[in-house]
Amino acid sequence: MFTLPPVEKVSVVIPVFNEEESLPELIRRTTGSCDTLGIDYEILLVDDGSSDNSAQILTTAAEQPGSHIVAVLLNRNYGQHSAIMAGFSHVTGDLIITLDADLQNPPEEIPRLVAKANEGYDVVGTVRQHRQDSVFRKMASRTVNRLIQRTTGKAMGDYGCMLRAYRRHIVDAMLHCHERSTFIPILANTFARKAVEIPVQHAEREFGDSKYSFLRLINLMYDLVTCLTTTPLRLLSVVGSVIALAGFSLAVLLVVLRLAFGPQWAGEGVFMLFAILFTFIGAQFIGMGLLGEYIGRIYNDVRARPRYFIQRVVRQEHDAPQEENNQ
Ligand code: UDP
Ligand code: MG
Repeated sequence: MFTLPPVEKVSVVIPVFNEEESLPELIRRTTGSCDTLGIDYEILLVDDGSSDNSAQILTTAAEQPGSHIVAVLLNRNYGQHSAIMAGFSHVTGDLIITLDADLQNPPEEIPRLVAKANEGYDVVGTVRQHRQDSVFRKMASRTVNRLIQRTTGKAMGDYGCMLRAYRRHIVDAMLHCHERSTFIPILANTFARKAVEIPVQHAEREFGDSKYSFLRLINLMYDLVTCLTTTPLRLLSVVGSVIALAGFSLAVLLVVLRLAFGPQWAGEGVFMLFAILFTFIGAQFIGMGLLGEYIGRIYNDVRARPRYFIQRVVRQEHDAPQEENNQ
Protein backbone atom coordinates (compact mmCIF):
# COMPACT_ATOMS: atom_id res chain seq x y z
CA MET A 1 0.00 0.00 0.00
CA PHE A 2 1.12 3.55 -0.75
CA THR A 3 2.23 5.28 2.43
CA LEU A 4 3.00 8.93 2.97
CA PRO A 5 6.51 9.84 4.10
CA PRO A 6 6.95 11.14 7.66
CA VAL A 7 6.55 14.87 8.18
CA GLU A 8 9.84 16.79 8.02
CA LYS A 9 8.70 20.37 8.32
CA VAL A 10 5.50 21.85 9.71
CA SER A 11 3.98 25.13 8.52
CA VAL A 12 1.36 26.73 10.74
CA VAL A 13 -0.92 29.19 8.94
CA ILE A 14 -2.90 31.65 11.07
CA PRO A 15 -5.22 34.36 9.70
CA VAL A 16 -5.16 37.53 11.79
CA PHE A 17 -7.78 40.25 11.70
CA ASN A 18 -7.64 42.86 14.46
CA GLU A 19 -6.25 40.49 17.07
CA GLU A 20 -3.56 42.66 18.66
CA GLU A 21 -4.49 41.62 22.21
CA SER A 22 -4.14 37.91 21.61
CA LEU A 23 -1.09 38.00 19.30
CA PRO A 24 1.70 37.99 21.93
CA GLU A 25 0.17 35.01 23.72
CA LEU A 26 -0.64 33.30 20.42
CA ILE A 27 2.95 33.61 19.20
CA ARG A 28 4.35 32.47 22.54
CA ARG A 29 2.10 29.44 22.86
CA THR A 30 2.37 28.39 19.20
CA THR A 31 6.16 28.65 19.22
CA GLY A 32 6.30 26.74 22.51
CA SER A 33 4.11 23.99 21.13
CA CYS A 34 6.08 23.70 17.87
CA ASP A 35 9.38 23.58 19.78
CA THR A 36 8.27 20.31 21.35
CA LEU A 37 7.87 18.71 17.89
CA GLY A 38 11.58 18.17 17.39
CA ILE A 39 11.35 18.97 13.67
CA ASP A 40 11.74 22.12 11.62
CA TYR A 41 8.75 24.45 11.55
CA GLU A 42 7.54 27.89 10.48
CA ILE A 43 4.59 29.97 11.61
CA LEU A 44 2.95 32.05 8.89
CA LEU A 45 0.79 34.80 10.28
CA VAL A 46 -1.38 36.41 7.62
CA ASP A 47 -2.57 39.90 8.45
CA ASP A 48 -5.95 40.26 6.77
CA GLY A 49 -5.91 44.05 6.52
CA SER A 50 -6.23 44.73 10.26
CA SER A 51 -6.90 48.31 11.30
CA ASP A 52 -5.22 47.89 14.68
CA ASN A 53 -1.60 47.24 15.54
CA SER A 54 -1.58 43.56 14.42
CA ALA A 55 0.51 44.08 11.26
CA GLN A 56 3.17 45.95 13.23
CA ILE A 57 3.37 43.23 15.89
CA LEU A 58 3.70 40.54 13.21
CA THR A 59 6.43 42.40 11.33
CA THR A 60 8.42 42.94 14.51
CA ALA A 61 8.09 39.28 15.46
CA ALA A 62 9.19 38.13 12.00
CA GLU A 63 12.18 40.47 11.92
CA GLN A 64 13.73 39.05 15.06
CA PRO A 65 16.89 37.06 14.26
CA GLY A 66 16.32 33.32 14.21
CA SER A 67 12.56 33.81 14.29
CA HIS A 68 10.36 31.02 12.95
CA ILE A 69 7.65 33.56 12.19
CA VAL A 70 6.78 34.64 8.68
CA ALA A 71 4.52 37.68 8.38
CA VAL A 72 2.32 37.88 5.29
CA LEU A 73 0.55 41.21 5.07
CA LEU A 74 -2.49 41.68 2.85
CA ASN A 75 -3.36 45.16 1.68
CA ARG A 76 -6.96 45.02 2.87
CA ASN A 77 -9.51 42.70 4.42
CA TYR A 78 -10.32 39.74 2.18
CA GLY A 79 -11.89 37.37 4.69
CA GLN A 80 -10.60 34.46 6.75
CA HIS A 81 -10.49 31.84 4.00
CA SER A 82 -8.82 34.09 1.44
CA ALA A 83 -6.23 35.02 4.06
CA ILE A 84 -5.50 31.35 4.72
CA MET A 85 -5.14 30.75 0.97
CA ALA A 86 -2.66 33.63 0.82
CA GLY A 87 -0.71 31.92 3.60
CA PHE A 88 -0.87 28.59 1.72
CA SER A 89 0.83 30.16 -1.28
CA HIS A 90 3.92 30.84 0.84
CA VAL A 91 4.32 27.67 2.89
CA THR A 92 7.48 25.61 2.64
CA GLY A 93 6.60 22.77 5.00
CA ASP A 94 5.18 19.37 4.04
CA LEU A 95 2.42 19.44 6.64
CA ILE A 96 0.31 22.57 6.91
CA ILE A 97 -1.71 23.30 10.02
CA THR A 98 -4.34 26.04 10.17
CA LEU A 99 -5.71 27.54 13.35
CA ASP A 100 -7.50 30.68 14.55
CA ALA A 101 -5.65 33.64 16.01
CA ASP A 102 -8.12 34.14 18.86
CA LEU A 103 -6.75 31.14 20.82
CA GLN A 104 -10.08 29.32 20.68
CA ASN A 105 -8.11 26.47 19.11
CA PRO A 106 -5.34 25.69 21.61
CA PRO A 107 -1.94 25.60 19.85
CA GLU A 108 -0.98 22.85 22.30
CA GLU A 109 -2.93 20.42 20.10
CA ILE A 110 -0.45 20.82 17.22
CA PRO A 111 1.78 17.85 18.20
CA ARG A 112 -1.25 15.56 18.25
CA LEU A 113 -2.21 16.63 14.74
CA VAL A 114 1.33 16.01 13.51
CA ALA A 115 1.39 12.58 15.13
CA LYS A 116 -1.92 11.69 13.49
CA ALA A 117 -0.72 12.90 10.07
CA ASN A 118 2.36 10.73 10.51
CA GLU A 119 0.08 7.72 10.76
CA GLY A 120 -0.54 8.19 7.02
CA TYR A 121 -3.48 10.59 6.80
CA ASP A 122 -3.46 13.46 4.36
CA VAL A 123 -6.15 15.48 6.12
CA VAL A 124 -6.54 15.58 9.88
CA GLY A 125 -9.74 17.29 10.99
CA THR A 126 -10.88 18.03 14.49
CA VAL A 127 -14.08 17.94 16.47
CA ARG A 128 -14.48 20.54 19.18
CA GLN A 129 -15.14 19.11 22.59
CA HIS A 130 -17.20 21.28 24.95
CA ARG A 131 -17.58 23.96 22.35
CA GLN A 132 -17.50 27.43 23.87
CA ASP A 133 -19.77 29.33 21.50
CA SER A 134 -23.25 30.79 21.77
CA VAL A 135 -26.27 28.50 21.48
CA PHE A 136 -27.21 30.19 18.23
CA ARG A 137 -23.79 29.48 16.67
CA LYS A 138 -23.91 25.87 17.79
CA MET A 139 -27.39 25.34 16.38
CA ALA A 140 -26.45 26.91 13.04
CA SER A 141 -23.34 24.73 12.83
CA ARG A 142 -25.26 21.59 13.63
CA THR A 143 -27.75 22.24 10.83
CA VAL A 144 -24.99 22.94 8.34
CA ASN A 145 -23.01 19.89 9.42
CA ARG A 146 -26.04 17.70 8.86
CA LEU A 147 -26.60 19.23 5.43
CA ILE A 148 -22.98 18.64 4.46
CA GLN A 149 -23.07 15.06 5.61
CA ARG A 150 -26.15 14.43 3.57
CA THR A 151 -24.84 16.04 0.38
CA THR A 152 -21.26 14.75 0.43
CA GLY A 153 -21.95 11.44 2.07
CA LYS A 154 -18.76 12.07 4.03
CA ALA A 155 -19.30 11.86 7.75
CA MET A 156 -17.17 14.76 8.90
CA GLY A 157 -18.36 15.89 12.29
CA ASP A 158 -17.22 19.49 12.54
CA TYR A 159 -16.46 21.60 9.49
CA GLY A 160 -16.41 24.85 11.41
CA CYS A 161 -13.28 24.10 13.40
CA MET A 162 -10.28 25.54 11.61
CA LEU A 163 -7.68 23.62 13.61
CA ARG A 164 -6.74 21.20 10.85
CA ALA A 165 -3.71 19.64 9.24
CA TYR A 166 -3.24 19.14 5.51
CA ARG A 167 -0.41 17.43 3.68
CA ARG A 168 1.40 19.56 1.15
CA HIS A 169 -0.17 17.91 -1.90
CA ILE A 170 -3.67 18.76 -0.61
CA VAL A 171 -2.68 22.41 -0.22
CA ASP A 172 -1.14 22.43 -3.69
CA ALA A 173 -4.38 21.05 -5.07
CA MET A 174 -6.37 23.76 -3.28
CA LEU A 175 -4.11 26.45 -4.70
CA HIS A 176 -5.03 25.20 -8.16
CA CYS A 177 -8.71 26.01 -7.57
CA HIS A 178 -9.68 29.31 -9.09
CA GLU A 179 -12.94 30.13 -7.31
CA ARG A 180 -12.98 33.46 -5.48
CA SER A 181 -14.98 32.43 -2.46
CA THR A 182 -14.22 29.13 -0.89
CA PHE A 183 -14.51 27.13 2.29
CA ILE A 184 -11.19 25.48 2.98
CA PRO A 185 -12.09 22.42 5.10
CA ILE A 186 -14.61 21.27 2.48
CA LEU A 187 -12.33 22.02 -0.43
CA ALA A 188 -9.57 20.02 1.25
CA ASN A 189 -11.88 17.08 1.78
CA THR A 190 -12.68 16.88 -1.91
CA PHE A 191 -8.99 16.12 -2.50
CA ALA A 192 -8.35 13.89 0.49
CA ARG A 193 -7.68 10.20 0.14
CA LYS A 194 -7.47 9.42 3.82
CA ALA A 195 -9.08 11.85 6.23
CA VAL A 196 -9.54 11.44 9.94
CA GLU A 197 -10.95 13.46 12.81
CA ILE A 198 -9.66 13.75 16.33
CA PRO A 199 -11.32 15.44 19.32
CA VAL A 200 -9.68 18.69 20.47
CA GLN A 201 -10.26 21.18 23.22
CA HIS A 202 -12.03 24.44 22.48
CA ALA A 203 -11.59 27.55 24.59
CA GLU A 204 -13.64 30.67 25.01
CA ARG A 205 -12.54 33.79 23.13
CA GLU A 206 -10.41 35.72 25.60
CA PHE A 207 -9.82 38.99 23.79
CA GLY A 208 -12.03 41.01 21.47
CA ASP A 209 -15.19 39.84 19.73
CA SER A 210 -15.95 37.38 16.99
CA LYS A 211 -15.13 38.89 13.61
CA TYR A 212 -18.27 37.39 12.12
CA SER A 213 -21.45 39.43 12.27
CA PHE A 214 -24.77 37.75 11.51
CA LEU A 215 -24.64 38.88 7.88
CA ARG A 216 -21.05 37.68 7.41
CA LEU A 217 -22.06 34.31 8.86
CA ILE A 218 -24.86 34.01 6.31
CA ASN A 219 -22.34 34.92 3.64
CA LEU A 220 -19.99 32.24 4.92
CA MET A 221 -22.80 29.72 4.82
CA TYR A 222 -23.45 30.54 1.16
CA ASP A 223 -19.71 30.13 0.46
CA LEU A 224 -19.87 26.78 2.14
CA VAL A 225 -22.89 25.49 0.22
CA THR A 226 -21.72 26.76 -3.18
CA CYS A 227 -18.22 25.42 -2.55
CA LEU A 228 -19.77 22.05 -1.88
CA THR A 229 -22.36 21.54 -4.54
CA THR A 230 -24.55 22.98 -7.28
CA THR A 231 -27.49 20.81 -6.16
CA PRO A 232 -29.65 23.79 -5.08
CA LEU A 233 -29.80 24.86 -8.73
CA ARG A 234 -30.79 21.38 -9.77
CA LEU A 235 -33.48 21.30 -7.07
CA LEU A 236 -35.46 23.87 -9.06
CA SER A 237 -36.16 21.25 -11.72
CA VAL A 238 -37.30 18.75 -9.11
CA VAL A 239 -39.64 21.25 -7.46
CA GLY A 240 -40.95 22.25 -10.89
CA SER A 241 -41.63 18.66 -11.89
CA VAL A 242 -43.53 18.01 -8.67
CA ILE A 243 -45.70 21.14 -9.10
CA ALA A 244 -46.36 20.42 -12.78
CA LEU A 245 -47.26 16.83 -12.04
CA ALA A 246 -49.60 17.86 -9.21
CA GLY A 247 -51.27 20.44 -11.46
CA PHE A 248 -51.72 17.92 -14.23
CA SER A 249 -53.15 15.31 -11.85
CA LEU A 250 -55.58 17.87 -10.49
CA ALA A 251 -56.72 18.71 -14.02
CA VAL A 252 -57.30 15.03 -14.82
CA LEU A 253 -59.18 14.57 -11.56
CA LEU A 254 -61.39 17.60 -12.27
CA VAL A 255 -62.25 16.35 -15.75
CA VAL A 256 -63.16 12.94 -14.36
CA LEU A 257 -65.30 14.45 -11.58
CA ARG A 258 -67.02 16.77 -14.02
CA LEU A 259 -67.88 13.91 -16.34
CA ALA A 260 -69.18 11.90 -13.40
CA PHE A 261 -71.13 14.58 -11.51
CA GLY A 262 -71.98 17.28 -14.05
CA PRO A 263 -70.87 20.92 -14.49
CA GLN A 264 -71.87 22.14 -10.97
CA TRP A 265 -69.20 20.06 -9.42
CA ALA A 266 -66.27 21.81 -11.00
CA GLY A 267 -66.97 25.22 -9.40
CA GLU A 268 -67.76 26.81 -12.76
CA GLY A 269 -64.27 26.04 -14.03
CA VAL A 270 -62.39 27.93 -11.31
CA PHE A 271 -60.60 24.85 -10.09
CA MET A 272 -59.68 23.97 -13.63
CA LEU A 273 -58.01 27.35 -13.89
CA PHE A 274 -55.94 26.51 -10.81
CA ALA A 275 -54.92 23.19 -12.26
CA ILE A 276 -53.77 24.82 -15.48
CA LEU A 277 -51.97 27.54 -13.53
CA PHE A 278 -50.08 24.99 -11.44
CA THR A 279 -49.03 23.10 -14.52
CA PHE A 280 -47.58 26.26 -16.02
CA ILE A 281 -45.87 27.33 -12.81
CA GLY A 282 -44.29 23.91 -12.70
CA ALA A 283 -43.16 24.25 -16.30
CA GLN A 284 -41.55 27.59 -15.43
CA PHE A 285 -39.65 26.02 -12.57
CA ILE A 286 -38.42 23.26 -14.84
CA GLY A 287 -37.21 25.93 -17.25
CA MET A 288 -35.40 27.72 -14.43
CA GLY A 289 -33.90 24.44 -13.32
CA LEU A 290 -32.57 23.89 -16.82
CA LEU A 291 -31.06 27.35 -16.78
CA GLY A 292 -29.65 26.51 -13.35
CA GLU A 293 -28.08 23.39 -14.79
CA TYR A 294 -26.23 25.48 -17.38
CA ILE A 295 -25.23 28.06 -14.78
CA GLY A 296 -23.96 25.25 -12.54
CA ARG A 297 -21.82 23.94 -15.35
CA ILE A 298 -20.52 27.43 -16.15
CA TYR A 299 -19.71 27.85 -12.46
CA ASN A 300 -17.80 24.59 -12.42
CA ASP A 301 -15.83 25.59 -15.49
CA VAL A 302 -15.10 29.08 -14.25
CA ARG A 303 -13.70 27.96 -10.94
CA ALA A 304 -11.55 25.52 -12.90
CA ARG A 305 -10.83 23.07 -10.16
CA PRO A 306 -8.22 20.56 -11.27
CA ARG A 307 -9.92 17.49 -12.72
CA TYR A 308 -7.38 15.29 -11.02
CA PHE A 309 -4.28 15.81 -9.01
CA ILE A 310 -1.20 13.65 -9.32
CA GLN A 311 0.40 13.04 -5.99
CA ARG A 312 3.51 11.31 -7.23
CA VAL A 313 4.92 9.79 -10.39
CA VAL A 314 7.26 6.88 -9.91
CA ARG A 315 9.43 5.76 -12.77
CA GLN A 316 12.95 4.52 -13.39
CA GLU A 317 15.23 7.30 -14.53
CA HIS A 318 16.82 5.33 -17.39
CA ASP A 319 13.41 4.40 -18.80
CA ALA A 320 12.38 7.99 -19.21
CA PRO A 321 13.81 8.82 -22.68
CA GLN A 322 12.47 5.56 -24.08
CA GLU A 323 8.98 6.38 -22.87
CA GLU A 324 9.17 9.72 -24.56
CA ASN A 325 10.18 8.02 -27.82
CA ASN A 326 7.07 5.92 -27.63
CA GLN A 327 4.78 8.90 -27.71
N1 UDP B 1 -10.40 36.45 10.44
C1 UDP B 1 -9.74 36.98 9.34
N2 UDP B 1 -10.42 37.79 8.49
C2 UDP B 1 -11.73 38.12 8.67
C3 UDP B 1 -12.41 37.56 9.79
C4 UDP B 1 -11.71 36.72 10.64
O1 UDP B 1 -8.57 36.71 9.12
O2 UDP B 1 -12.28 38.88 7.88
C5 UDP B 1 -9.67 35.57 11.35
C6 UDP B 1 -9.68 35.98 12.80
O3 UDP B 1 -8.62 36.86 13.10
C7 UDP B 1 -9.51 34.66 13.50
C8 UDP B 1 -10.22 33.68 12.60
O4 UDP B 1 -10.30 34.32 11.32
O5 UDP B 1 -8.17 34.28 13.58
C9 UDP B 1 -11.59 33.28 13.10
O6 UDP B 1 -12.36 34.44 13.37
P1 UDP B 1 -13.34 34.53 14.63
O7 UDP B 1 -12.67 33.98 15.84
O8 UDP B 1 -13.82 35.94 14.70
O9 UDP B 1 -14.51 33.60 14.16
P2 UDP B 1 -15.40 32.65 15.09
O10 UDP B 1 -14.50 31.98 16.09
O11 UDP B 1 -16.40 33.53 15.73
O12 UDP B 1 -15.99 31.68 14.11
MG1 MG C 1 -13.03 32.44 17.11
